[in-house]
Amino acid sequence: MTTGLSAPASELERLGAEDLIRWAHAEFGERLCLTCSWQKQSSVLVHMVSGLGLGVDVIELDTHLFFRETYETRDRLVERYGLTLIRPTVLTVAEQHTTEGPNLWETDPDRCCHIRKVEPLIQALEPYDAWISGIRRDQSPSRAGMPKVVRSERYGVWKIHPLADWDEQRVWSYIMANDIPYNPLHDAGYRSIGCIPCTRPIRADEEERAGRWAGSDKLECGIHEVIEERET
Ligand code: SF4
Repeated sequence: MTTGLSAPASELERLGAEDLIRWAHAEFGERLCLTCSWQKQSSVLVHMVSGLGLGVDVIELDTHLFFRETYETRDRLVERYGLTLIRPTVLTVAEQHTTEGPNLWETDPDRCCHIRKVEPLIQALEPYDAWISGIRRDQSPSRAGMPKVVRSERYGVWKIHPLADWDEQRVWSYIMANDIPYNPLHDAGYRSIGCIPCTRPIRADEEERAGRWAGSDKLECGIHEVIEERET
């Protein structure tokens, strides 16, 4: 299948994280961006992109329902790396209460995620052709088959996953080796961190994302739907 990219998928799969980011920047130039929600993968990618000196735009996916520690982590990373964040418009929580009813995350979390995550992301990605995201294949079964480069028809961009084949230990080794600021909630049992109403700490024997939408069958916020995408 012709992808329109300068390299075949098999070649891109063999690239390490930094080489994949270099390739993406050469391929897409200023129309490449990175999204952050200030979990440990954000720490890795902000450091990596900054170290490569490529000037990739950083988009903050803020639902306005993050933990205080998450915002403090963002502020530390902004200061350390001199980031200028791009912030898509999000309905305020009060506006959402008025238009959708109170505590939508309890009554219809898919709709809440769509309003607070997917719609702002669609808006944010409009000027771009490619989007770097920190998802990893070992985070959950729903992410296990994620290619390093994949076309998203929903967003009209190429998704770039430099950390797809990293495991959690490798993420931590990289953070510690490079002394990168990270979200302290990770040290308090929150191995995966999202919005306050939908995140809890987990036990050692639970899988990494078990604390997200715990007690429901919801696994993803909808941003990373694999079903709408096709491999390169
Ligand atoms: S994670 Fe919860 S609070 Fe955050 S957008 Fe989704 S449903 Fe709403």
